[in-house]
Amino acid sequence: MKAASNPIQVPAGAGRPAKEWKFSDILASDPRIRQKWEKVRKYFFLRESTYDMTRKCNIRCEGCYYYQGEKAGATGIEDPEQWRRLMEKEKQRGITYVVLAGAEPSLVPELLDVCHDRIPLGCIATNGLIPIDKKVDYRIHVSVWGNDATSQQVRNAENMLSRQIQNYGNDPRAVFVYTFTRHNIGEAGEVMDQLAQNNCRATFNMFSAPAGYAGGLAHDAQSLEKTRQTMEEIGRQYPDHVIFSPYHRVVHTHRLGLHDLFSCPYPRANPSTDIGLGRSFRQYRADLTWKRDTACCVPDTDCADCRHYAAGSAVVTARMFRHAACPETFAAWLDYVDVYLAVWVRGYEKSPDLCDQHTAPPAHHLF
Ligand code: SF4
Ligand code: SF4
Repeated sequence: MKAASNPIQVPAGAGRPAKEWKFSDILASDPRIRQKWEKVRKYFFLRESTYDMTRKCNIRCEGCYYYQGEKAGATGIEDPEQWRRLMEKEKQRGITYVVLAGAEPSLVPELLDVCHDRIPLGCIATNGLIPIDKKVDYRIHVSVWGNDATSQQVRNAENMLSRQIQNYGNDPRAVFVYTFTRHNIGEAGEVMDQLAQNNCRATFNMFSAPAGYAGGLAHDAQSLEKTRQTMEEIGRQYPDHVIFSPYHRVVHTHRLGLHDLFSCPYPRANPSTDIGLGRSFRQYRADLTWKRDTACCVPDTDCADCRHYAAGSAVVTARMFRHAACPETFAAWLDYVDVYLAVWVRGYEKSPDLCDQHTAPPAHHLF
């Protein structure tokens, strides 16, 4: 996963292209752009929705967005037959990819099996303390919030990383997701070292405050910059174990959140039902109901502070045309989509980055 030996040159501070480019000319401008475009476009059939599998969790973390808002009060339905019927209906309305989240999905193993049986592509977001049966061949995202001392403090769980590694080290389904908060930036290196030694791959997330959150984990300008530098250092140090791109660093540590940068297409922030996520996306609660006005992958997160990796996977990826303004910006977008697929789709492998420098998001300044 090293950068291409001859990376595409990005003009510093680029925000607007010097000339108007036709899409066909962008593809023709560099064979590596066309190659990556052909690679990622095979996955444009993915249509996601997300599902709270249960309202139960075996730990309690500070700043958990699940226990914010009214969704946490939904009565959990644990009848496999009802879930089977839901998955059938989801398939019929064109859903090809499921994100199974929580509270903690590993507490309802039978339901995971049912979902995988009906819709074979998907991902489970777990705290990693309970192993999930190998036959559920989804991506598994194991959440890491710092070293063991921090996890003990913020998540109230002992020896968390070693237990997660014991359950998911060497598991090709697993991607460890290190969430940077304002306070755990300095711990990321030691955590990554431990993960790499145990043959675990990782990607990065940004703590995004739940609406009304008043705790100390939310980022400020200083922590965004420090996080960006740390991501870069760790990425350089562990190129075979970190799944990320330079453009990820830009858009997830930008002073503006994802919604302000790209206008979020999830129904919660987008009234249009015509195309894309606004038309197809649903976020089901544990009682199998959903509401359009709260539907996004991280409901009850404050949109102004949303830099969440799952949100970016949809928000940035959906903005292909905005990025198809010049070869440099489109190449950065392709790197982003390549990483998104490697993180979320079993069997998809990341290619070398086309851009090894930071690229400004369309119509915005760098950072
Ligand atoms: S493990 Fe996940 S669902 Fe459980 S409390 Fe922590 S953040 Fe919330
Ligand atoms: S919280 Fe994030 S993903 Fe959800 S609607 Fe707001 S910007 Fe979009």
